[in-house]
Amino acid sequence: MTDLAALKRDLDGIPMEDNPVLVKQKSRDFFWYSPVLKRRLDHVTGDLVVSPRDRDEVIRVVRACFAHGVPITPRGAGTGNYGQAMPLSGGVVLNLAEMNKVVEIRPGVVVAEAGAIMEKIDQETRAQSGQELRLHPSTYRTATIGGFVAGGSGGIGSIRWGGLRDLGNVIRVEVVTCEAEPRVLQLTGADVAKVVHAYGTNGIVTAVEMPLAPAYDWVDAVVAFDDFLAAAAFADALGNQDGILLKNLAVIAAPLPYDYFLRHRRFLRRDQSTVLVMVAPFAVEAFAAFTRRFKAADVVYRSDLATEEERKGLPPVYELAWNHTTLRGLRVDPSITYLQVLYPFPHQLERVAAVTKLFGDEVPGHLEFVRFDGKITCFGLPVVRYTSEERLEEIMRLHDAEGCPIFNPHRYTLEEGGMKQTDAVQLAFKREADPNGLLNPGKMIAWEDPDYDFGAEKLYLFPGLERTE
Ligand code: FAD
Repeated sequence: MTDLAALKRDLDGIPMEDNPVLVKQKSRDFFWYSPVLKRRLDHVTGDLVVSPRDRDEVIRVVRACFAHGVPITPRGAGTGNYGQAMPLSGGVVLNLAEMNKVVEIRPGVVVAEAGAIMEKIDQETRAQSGQELRLHPSTYRTATIGGFVAGGSGGIGSIRWGGLRDLGNVIRVEVVTCEAEPRVLQLTGADVAKVVHAYGTNGIVTAVEMPLAPAYDWVDAVVAFDDFLAAAAFADALGNQDGILLKNLAVIAAPLPYDYFLRHRRFLRRDQSTVLVMVAPFAVEAFAAFTRRFKAADVVYRSDLATEEERKGLPPVYELAWNHTTLRGLRVDPSITYLQVLYPFPHQLERVAAVTKLFGDEVPGHLEFVRFDGKITCFGLPVVRYTSEERLEEIMRLHDAEGCPIFNPHRYTLEEGGMKQTDAVQLAFKREADPNGLLNPGKMIAWEDPDYDFGAEKLYLFPGLERTE
């Protein structure tokens, strides 16, 4: 049983919140995207939200929690989709949002505290030196850089730069360990992989150093096609145009754009699939010339050509892409859910065609083109017209059978949401940095149950969840 009174005494002077309603609010993320996670995690709450203002306060919190054996779940803005930031064993929700300073900007590099919002970072780097983050999630305006590094994977910018796990896309991570006497480690080079996308299970990120690229006033374009596969083929070809600088390239199958993108609806027909493009202003004429080669391509919107009246109230196209497509869909039809799929290079278009044929409108397509190891391929976040958990599982199995690996967004553990195997490097680092297993319990199966059989295809149930029920 947690001695909260003693813990609070030790944390005297650090902002904290124990009102159960407010604590529950800060114990949630966007887990409810998944009907499976919604059912399992809805009750989850922490005991206390603690909001350190600097690294020294983080160290104080960790020291006290370690002494009292209290679990710690780090939290940025709580925009993760898989319950990553939800405290499955209760304890302290460590809210990093107050640590939000941009510390240093130099050519190609920004150093920021973990709780800095990505849009705010870019505002400073743009103003100071015309630079911006290479990559950001579509939750750019709300999510923190620490939450992105610890819980995200890629997004806007991945068509040019790949993902967060690619070497060079995170330069340095400052991590506080969870030990009797917490240490501050600076991870660089290959070592950043110890904590990137580890859900805060093996260290608390207090600052990051990220690479920057030249900033542009990106032009948004929407290209409509009567046929989804023709749209996919166009996007694949566009992504391979090395001279046309893009920041995002997505394809959304009809009727989703018309049904979900309500503010863009006036530019669309319900039977049209759309390609959403972010292109550099200097490349927009080249993009237009390339598009003219495709007779079926209908450019229905370009932000640089639109009148002020037409642009009014429109979200940027990156807020139609990645998991914003799903969010907009859920607002219109709360019964839908989604999947995360890789259509491996070099057969991505054949794989997309195969699953499109198999599922039709039960799983309308959503492709995000990305550069993986220098090769353009696509990742998918298709919508699923949900009927039951059994059918959802079957749809995933059928994707696997078609050679399209699923990154299951209906699971809260690292392994089940990823490659269905343990990341040995992250596990080894957890042994070193969190010997008592207090950081975000229940999210790394290999730590909780070293003999777990990933081949058994059953759902992992974290025993600690019962404590919060
Ligand atoms: P949180 O949700 O608070 O945390 C994420 C994980 O990181 C949790 O496990 C948490 O415990 C851990 N964590 C947070 N801060 C720290 C820290 N300082 N130290 C250690 N661990 C920490 N993701 C993408 O990758 N690409 C996308 O394009 C994308 N689009 C999205 C669109 C929508 C509409 C939604 C709802 C989600 C989307 N996501 C996307 C998921 C999520 O928004 C991003 O990953 C985001 O960067 C998470 O940041 P956050 O500050 O909200 O982190």
